Amino acid sequence: MKNALSIDLEDWFCVKNLAQAIKRDDWDKCDLRVRANTTRILDLLDRHNVRATFFILGWVADRAPDLIRDVEARGHEIGVHGYNHLLLTEITPEEFDEDLGKALEAIARTGIKSRPIGFRAPSFSMVNATKGWALPILEKHGFQYDSSVFPVGFHPDYGIADAPLSPYKITDKLYEFPMSVLEMFGRRFPFCGGGYFRLFPYTYTRYCMRKVNEQGRAVVFYLHPWEVDPDQPRIKNLSRSQKFRHYRNLDQTERRLSRLVNDFQFTTVREVLQI
Ligand SMILES: [Zn+2]
Repeated sequence: MKNALSIDLEDWFCVKNLAQAIKRDDWDKCDLRVRANTTRILDLLDRHNVRATFFILGWVADRAPDLIRDVEARGHEIGVHGYNHLLLTEITPEEFDEDLGKALEAIARTGIKSRPIGFRAPSFSMVNATKGWALPILEKHGFQYDSSVFPVGFHPDYGIADAPLSPYKITDKLYEFPMSVLEMFGRRFPFCGGGYFRLFPYTYTRYCMRKVNEQGRAVVFYLHPWEVDPDQPRIKNLSRSQKFRHYRNLDQTERRLSRLVNDFQFTTVREVLQI
């Protein structure tokens, strides 16, 4: 079974979890580490002969166009993660339209050859309150799939509790590849990347992923370049839980990712969806 590997290509300071500590206007003062961290992931994927989908933040594309070209040149799919990492739950349709257009322009300016067809909403903010207006805006910009719906009900910031678990047509023109969860005993368990991958033991991810594959479903896995960077600057004025979520096990992610791509087969989102 081929699963989809996705990287949300943003830097350590773009994260929602740190948004109170680092203002958007201060991003340019932060140490840009995305180039080195992404290159480490690219090298790891090369060693294992794995292709992935990189959902690019337009802000990063403007500052590291060479990196985006390198991602494409190494055979990976280029997708879009917005320009300013704005959560759909915090903006208007007009602001989303503008941010998306800006992201597409920035990504095109890097000189890549392909045109992105896939979108990942920052912080999985494609929810019941936003999807009605956000999906038509994706269609308008020529997207063919979205991979942003987390089909869970427990999280305060994201999730659609009763959303389908397998890829499906979410509108006439758009596929949705929902974030993978394991359904067991009538409950849905998240595991497919990011904090779930770092905070729980690797064997938890492996168990859930095997079960989902046994149930006949491909998994979409996600990770961020800053998650393989234990040396990133430490922000002091964070709550205990914010610190835990951002810094826990950063020194183990790269090794776990190696194990993951050894234990499972991966390719791009586009290839799994066969579009
Ligand atoms: Zn993100």
